[in-house]
Amino acid sequence: MSRFFTSKFSGLVPYTPGEQPRDMQYIKLNTNESPFPPSEKAMAYAREEAERLRLYPDPECKALTEKLAEHFGVLPENVIVNNGSDETLNFAFMAFCDEKRPAYFADITYGFYPVFAQVNRLPYMEIPLKTDFSLDPADYTDKHGFIVIANPNAPTGMALPLTQIERIVAEHPDGVVVVDEAYVDFGAESAVPLTKKYDNLLVVQTYSKSRSMAGARLGFGIGNAELIQDLNTIRFSTNPYNINRMTMAAGVGALEDDAYMKANCAKIMENRAYTVNALEKSGFTVLPSAANFIFARHPQIDGKEMYLTLKENGILVRHFDKPSLCQYNRITIGTREQMETFIATVRKLWEAAR
Ligand code: PMP
Repeated sequence: MSRFFTSKFSGLVPYTPGEQPRDMQYIKLNTNESPFPPSEKAMAYAREEAERLRLYPDPECKALTEKLAEHFGVLPENVIVNNGSDETLNFAFMAFCDEKRPAYFADITYGFYPVFAQVNRLPYMEIPLKTDFSLDPADYTDKHGFIVIANPNAPTGMALPLTQIERIVAEHPDGVVVVDEAYVDFGAESAVPLTKKYDNLLVVQTYSKSRSMAGARLGFGIGNAELIQDLNTIRFSTNPYNINRMTMAAGVGALEDDAYMKANCAKIMENRAYTVNALEKSGFTVLPSAANFIFARHPQIDGKEMYLTLKENGILVRHFDKPSLCQYNRITIGTREQMETFIATVRKLWEAAR
């Protein structure tokens, strides 16, 4: 820390992103990226737009916002686009959370939520999940403030049915409820249709997973026009040019190629079923996943040891040191070939533990 760093941030513990190693070629199953390339159309539009990089991008993000609105059956004023859904989430904390409306989220969920609260110096409370990692909406009944729910949740992959999401939104008319749907395309129900019924619901999605564009940094929020206006007040007060030209163009192309995304999601879901089945046959416990990753443990194999041994063998998964999670590993679902190698490696290494 330099002697100039402001004391207000001196205790800040930043978010730790998953490893992006350069030392060797791994089978990379650690950051929930797609194993498939972006849509051809997305890449073609981005290449074409590269010729105009001399010029600032459209701060209104009109073409992309209109395309997203059409795609989701809402109006352009119901949509905001951001530099990754992390930015949408951060803006939501900035806009809708304060001393009187603390943030509430699960104790086991996306690790960036407490960091968003801390960097904005906002109060927050973590609500314990049940021992089976499920979220009970009843635990939120008396929590009035700003609620964030990842659905499906990370790193468990478990999804809540829409009726339960709706219950939480309906029970908190005076606070904003954010539903983070980063993984929704892999088998969960989206709350986007509910945004027409509830003015306190903000749904956040990303191009990083199902649309194979993690490197482009593109996320978006859908909600009541006034919520979106508030988020735009924050956006225009921080970085009005948050979406670069190539990303914006690629975002339009990807939406025009929706069938490609759907086909990729179907393959991931198929590979997920294959992996879960094979792991269960080898004695693993796997939480029910509606995401492009699974959360698994073996009763006889230490979680950290499994992570380290897999890494030595060229396979990268995500391990969390938190005591409630440390016996598990989060495994991103890749291509069939990658998952077959993963399963073969697991069997070879832990044949004795079965
Ligand atoms: N929400 C959840 C639950 C996530 O796991 C992630 C990915 N790390 C994000 C949001 C952020 O994704 P991105 O900023 O790439 O859109």
